[in-house]
Amino acid sequence: GTPPLLLDVRDLHTRYGRVEALGGVSVQVPQGHIVSVIGANGAGKTTLMNSIMGVLPSRGELLYAGESLRGVPLEARVARGISLVPERRDLFASMTVADNLQLGAYSRRREAWRLDLENVYARFPRLHERRTQLAGTLSGGEQQMLAIGRALMARPRLLLLDEPSLGLAPLIVRDILRIVQGLREGGVTVLLVEQNARASLAISDEAYVLETGQVKLHGPAAELARNEALGASYLGG
Ligand code: ATP
Repeated sequence: GTPPLLLDVRDLHTRYGRVEALGGVSVQVPQGHIVSVIGANGAGKTTLMNSIMGVLPSRGELLYAGESLRGVPLEARVARGISLVPERRDLFASMTVADNLQLGAYSRRREAWRLDLENVYARFPRLHERRTQLAGTLSGGEQQMLAIGRALMARPRLLLLDEPSLGLAPLIVRDILRIVQGLREGGVTVLLVEQNARASLAISDEAYVLETGQVKLHGPAAELARNEALGASYLGG
Protein backbone atom coordinates (compact mmCIF):
# COMPACT_ATOMS: atom_id res chain seq x y z
CA GLY A 1 0.00 0.00 0.00
CA THR A 2 0.85 3.70 -0.04
CA PRO A 3 2.97 4.95 2.87
CA PRO A 4 1.40 7.50 5.24
CA LEU A 5 1.22 11.09 4.04
CA LEU A 6 4.06 13.33 5.14
CA LEU A 7 2.33 16.35 3.63
CA ASP A 8 -1.37 16.72 2.96
CA VAL A 9 -2.38 19.96 1.26
CA ARG A 10 -6.15 20.39 1.35
CA ASP A 11 -8.07 22.95 -0.65
CA LEU A 12 -5.40 25.63 -0.50
CA HIS A 13 -6.30 29.15 -1.60
CA THR A 14 -3.65 31.84 -1.95
CA ARG A 15 -4.12 35.32 -3.34
CA TYR A 16 -2.07 38.35 -4.20
CA GLY A 17 -4.50 41.13 -3.45
CA ARG A 18 -7.41 40.57 -5.81
CA VAL A 19 -5.62 37.96 -7.89
CA GLU A 20 -6.27 34.40 -6.81
CA ALA A 21 -3.08 32.43 -7.62
CA LEU A 22 -4.24 29.15 -6.04
CA GLY A 23 -7.93 28.38 -6.21
CA GLY A 24 -8.36 25.31 -4.02
CA VAL A 25 -5.34 23.09 -4.55
CA SER A 26 -5.05 19.65 -2.93
CA VAL A 27 -1.79 17.69 -3.11
CA GLN A 28 -0.81 14.56 -1.21
CA VAL A 29 2.83 13.68 -0.58
CA PRO A 30 3.40 10.16 0.80
CA GLN A 31 6.40 9.66 3.04
CA GLY A 32 9.50 8.66 1.08
CA HIS A 33 8.03 9.50 -2.33
CA ILE A 34 8.93 12.04 -5.00
CA VAL A 35 5.83 13.97 -6.02
CA SER A 36 6.10 16.38 -8.90
CA VAL A 37 3.96 19.37 -9.74
CA ILE A 38 4.04 20.22 -13.41
CA GLY A 39 2.73 23.41 -14.91
CA ALA A 40 3.40 26.27 -17.28
CA ASN A 41 4.69 29.72 -16.33
CA GLY A 42 2.26 31.39 -13.97
CA ALA A 43 0.34 28.20 -13.11
CA GLY A 44 0.98 28.82 -9.41
CA LYS A 45 3.85 26.43 -8.68
CA THR A 46 6.05 28.88 -6.79
CA THR A 47 3.01 30.20 -4.95
CA LEU A 48 2.27 26.63 -3.80
CA MET A 49 5.81 26.22 -2.44
CA ASN A 50 5.75 29.57 -0.64
CA SER A 51 2.33 28.80 0.82
CA ILE A 52 3.60 25.46 2.18
CA MET A 53 6.57 27.23 3.80
CA GLY A 54 4.22 29.80 5.33
CA VAL A 55 5.90 32.69 3.54
CA LEU A 56 2.57 33.57 1.94
CA PRO A 57 -0.69 33.59 3.88
CA SER A 58 -3.19 31.06 2.57
CA ARG A 59 -6.57 29.57 3.33
CA GLY A 60 -7.15 25.84 3.54
CA GLU A 61 -5.44 23.08 5.44
CA LEU A 62 -1.78 22.05 5.54
CA LEU A 63 -1.11 18.84 7.44
CA TYR A 64 2.50 17.85 8.00
CA ALA A 65 3.18 14.46 9.60
CA GLY A 66 -0.46 14.49 10.61
CA GLU A 67 -0.34 17.88 12.34
CA SER A 68 -1.74 21.19 11.19
CA LEU A 69 0.74 23.89 10.21
CA ARG A 70 -1.80 26.60 10.90
CA GLY A 71 -0.12 29.48 12.70
CA VAL A 72 3.30 27.80 12.56
CA PRO A 73 5.90 30.38 11.40
CA LEU A 74 8.52 29.73 8.74
CA GLU A 75 11.42 29.04 11.14
CA ALA A 76 9.35 26.52 13.08
CA ARG A 77 8.42 24.76 9.82
CA VAL A 78 12.12 24.51 8.99
CA ALA A 79 12.82 23.19 12.48
CA ARG A 80 10.16 20.52 11.96
CA GLY A 81 11.93 19.34 8.83
CA ILE A 82 10.52 21.26 5.86
CA SER A 83 13.14 22.90 3.67
CA LEU A 84 12.78 24.89 0.44
CA VAL A 85 15.26 25.25 -2.40
CA PRO A 86 13.92 28.42 -4.04
CA GLU A 87 13.74 28.92 -7.78
CA ARG A 88 16.26 31.76 -7.71
CA ARG A 89 18.58 29.68 -5.51
CA ASP A 90 19.32 32.74 -3.36
CA LEU A 91 22.99 32.00 -2.84
CA PHE A 92 25.42 34.55 -1.46
CA ALA A 93 27.53 35.10 -4.58
CA SER A 94 30.46 36.78 -2.86
CA MET A 95 30.72 34.14 -0.14
CA THR A 96 32.46 30.80 -0.43
CA VAL A 97 30.74 27.47 -0.97
CA ALA A 98 31.56 26.46 2.62
CA ASP A 99 30.13 29.69 4.08
CA ASN A 100 26.94 29.34 2.05
CA LEU A 101 26.51 25.81 3.41
CA GLN A 102 27.13 26.96 6.96
CA LEU A 103 24.32 29.50 6.59
CA GLY A 104 21.94 26.64 5.92
CA ALA A 105 22.87 24.91 9.17
CA TYR A 106 19.97 24.61 11.50
CA SER A 107 22.00 23.53 14.49
CA ARG A 108 24.01 26.22 16.21
CA ARG A 109 26.21 23.57 17.77
CA ARG A 110 29.50 23.40 15.93
CA GLU A 111 29.99 19.62 16.16
CA ALA A 112 26.50 19.05 14.82
CA TRP A 113 26.83 21.26 11.76
CA ARG A 114 30.32 19.93 11.05
CA LEU A 115 28.80 16.48 10.72
CA ASP A 116 26.03 17.82 8.47
CA LEU A 117 28.67 19.57 6.37
CA GLU A 118 30.62 16.33 5.98
CA ASN A 119 27.45 14.55 4.89
CA VAL A 120 26.76 17.20 2.25
CA TYR A 121 30.35 17.00 0.98
CA ALA A 122 30.08 13.21 0.83
CA ARG A 123 26.96 13.56 -1.33
CA PHE A 124 28.47 16.35 -3.45
CA PRO A 125 32.22 15.77 -3.86
CA ARG A 126 32.22 18.66 -6.36
CA LEU A 127 31.22 21.07 -3.61
CA HIS A 128 34.01 19.75 -1.42
CA GLU A 129 36.55 20.32 -4.18
CA ARG A 130 35.26 23.87 -4.57
CA ARG A 131 34.60 24.68 -0.93
CA THR A 132 36.81 27.81 -0.92
CA GLN A 133 35.48 29.08 -4.27
CA LEU A 134 33.03 32.00 -4.32
CA ALA A 135 29.49 30.81 -4.99
CA GLY A 136 28.98 33.41 -7.73
CA THR A 137 31.75 31.83 -9.80
CA LEU A 138 30.22 28.33 -9.83
CA SER A 139 28.55 26.94 -12.95
CA GLY A 140 24.75 26.84 -13.04
CA GLY A 141 24.65 23.14 -12.16
CA GLU A 142 27.11 23.61 -9.30
CA GLN A 143 25.05 26.50 -7.96
CA GLN A 144 21.98 24.27 -7.95
CA MET A 145 23.95 21.57 -6.10
CA LEU A 146 24.99 24.20 -3.57
CA ALA A 147 21.41 25.38 -3.13
CA ILE A 148 20.30 21.77 -2.52
CA GLY A 149 23.28 21.15 -0.23
CA ARG A 150 22.43 24.23 1.80
CA ALA A 151 18.84 23.02 2.23
CA LEU A 152 20.15 19.61 3.34
CA MET A 153 22.14 21.32 6.12
CA ALA A 154 18.79 21.82 7.86
CA ARG A 155 18.31 18.00 7.84
CA PRO A 156 14.92 18.08 6.11
CA ARG A 157 12.41 15.26 6.07
CA LEU A 158 10.52 17.07 3.34
CA LEU A 159 12.45 18.92 0.66
CA LEU A 160 10.60 21.36 -1.60
CA LEU A 161 12.44 21.92 -4.86
CA ASP A 162 11.30 24.81 -7.04
CA GLU A 163 12.38 24.25 -10.65
CA PRO A 164 15.85 22.88 -9.96
CA SER A 165 16.50 22.44 -13.69
CA LEU A 166 15.76 26.07 -14.58
CA GLY A 167 18.35 27.45 -16.98
CA LEU A 168 20.48 24.30 -16.98
CA ALA A 169 21.68 22.34 -20.02
CA PRO A 170 19.91 18.98 -20.58
CA LEU A 171 22.89 16.92 -19.44
CA ILE A 172 23.14 18.89 -16.21
CA VAL A 173 19.38 18.56 -15.69
CA ARG A 174 19.89 14.80 -15.73
CA ASP A 175 22.62 15.09 -13.07
CA ILE A 176 20.42 17.20 -10.84
CA LEU A 177 17.46 14.84 -11.17
CA ARG A 178 19.74 11.91 -10.39
CA ILE A 179 20.74 13.76 -7.23
CA VAL A 180 17.06 14.15 -6.35
CA GLN A 181 16.59 10.40 -6.81
CA GLY A 182 19.55 9.85 -4.49
CA LEU A 183 17.87 11.97 -1.83
CA ARG A 184 14.79 9.78 -2.03
CA GLU A 185 16.98 6.72 -1.55
CA GLY A 186 18.40 8.44 1.53
CA GLY A 187 14.90 8.73 2.97
CA VAL A 188 14.08 12.35 2.10
CA THR A 189 10.58 13.00 0.80
CA VAL A 190 10.53 15.39 -2.16
CA LEU A 191 7.96 17.76 -3.61
CA LEU A 192 9.38 18.78 -6.96
CA VAL A 193 8.08 21.64 -9.06
CA GLU A 194 9.11 21.49 -12.70
CA GLN A 195 8.33 22.78 -16.15
CA ASN A 196 10.50 20.02 -17.49
CA ALA A 197 7.63 17.52 -17.37
CA ARG A 198 9.09 14.45 -19.02
CA ALA A 199 12.30 14.43 -16.97
CA SER A 200 10.52 14.99 -13.67
CA LEU A 201 7.84 12.35 -14.34
CA ALA A 202 10.62 9.84 -14.98
CA ILE A 203 11.86 10.12 -11.38
CA SER A 204 8.53 10.72 -9.61
CA ASP A 205 6.09 8.39 -7.89
CA GLU A 206 3.06 10.65 -8.28
CA ALA A 207 2.44 13.84 -10.22
CA TYR A 208 0.02 16.76 -10.36
CA VAL A 209 -0.64 19.06 -13.28
CA LEU A 210 -1.37 22.62 -12.21
CA GLU A 211 -3.15 25.05 -14.54
CA THR A 212 -4.07 28.59 -13.53
CA GLY A 213 -4.09 27.76 -9.86
CA GLN A 214 -6.01 24.47 -10.06
CA VAL A 215 -5.10 20.80 -10.25
CA LYS A 216 -6.14 19.61 -13.72
CA LEU A 217 -4.82 16.06 -13.51
CA HIS A 218 -3.09 13.87 -10.98
CA GLY A 219 -2.07 10.27 -10.60
CA PRO A 220 0.86 7.89 -10.65
CA ALA A 221 3.72 9.51 -12.57
CA ALA A 222 4.02 6.57 -14.97
CA GLU A 223 0.34 6.94 -15.85
CA LEU A 224 0.61 10.69 -16.49
CA ALA A 225 3.65 10.09 -18.66
CA ARG A 226 1.38 8.05 -20.98
CA ASN A 227 -1.47 10.57 -20.88
CA GLU A 228 -2.11 11.85 -24.39
CA ALA A 229 -3.71 15.16 -23.46
CA LEU A 230 -0.79 15.88 -21.18
CA GLY A 231 1.61 14.77 -23.88
CA ALA A 232 0.32 17.34 -26.34
CA SER A 233 0.68 20.28 -23.96
CA TYR A 234 3.58 19.39 -21.68
CA LEU A 235 5.61 16.55 -23.11
CA GLY A 236 6.31 17.88 -26.56
CA GLY A 237 3.61 15.79 -28.30
P1 ATP B 1 6.86 30.33 -13.03
O1 ATP B 1 7.17 28.97 -13.55
O2 ATP B 1 6.86 31.36 -14.10
O3 ATP B 1 7.62 30.71 -11.80
P2 ATP B 1 4.63 29.59 -11.37
O4 ATP B 1 3.83 28.43 -11.81
O5 ATP B 1 5.63 29.38 -10.30
O6 ATP B 1 5.31 30.26 -12.62
P3 ATP B 1 3.59 31.67 -9.69
O7 ATP B 1 4.88 32.40 -9.63
O8 ATP B 1 3.18 30.91 -8.50
O9 ATP B 1 3.58 30.70 -10.95
O10 ATP B 1 2.46 32.71 -10.09
C1 ATP B 1 1.07 32.36 -10.13
C2 ATP B 1 0.24 33.59 -10.50
O11 ATP B 1 0.32 34.55 -9.44
C3 ATP B 1 0.71 34.29 -11.75
O12 ATP B 1 -0.43 34.73 -12.45
C4 ATP B 1 1.51 35.45 -11.24
O13 ATP B 1 1.47 36.53 -12.12
C5 ATP B 1 0.81 35.79 -9.94
N1 ATP B 1 1.76 36.34 -8.96
C6 ATP B 1 2.90 35.74 -8.50
N2 ATP B 1 3.53 36.50 -7.61
C7 ATP B 1 2.78 37.63 -7.47
C8 ATP B 1 2.90 38.82 -6.69
N3 ATP B 1 3.89 38.99 -5.83
N4 ATP B 1 1.93 39.75 -6.84
C9 ATP B 1 0.90 39.56 -7.69
N5 ATP B 1 0.73 38.48 -8.45
C10 ATP B 1 1.65 37.51 -8.35
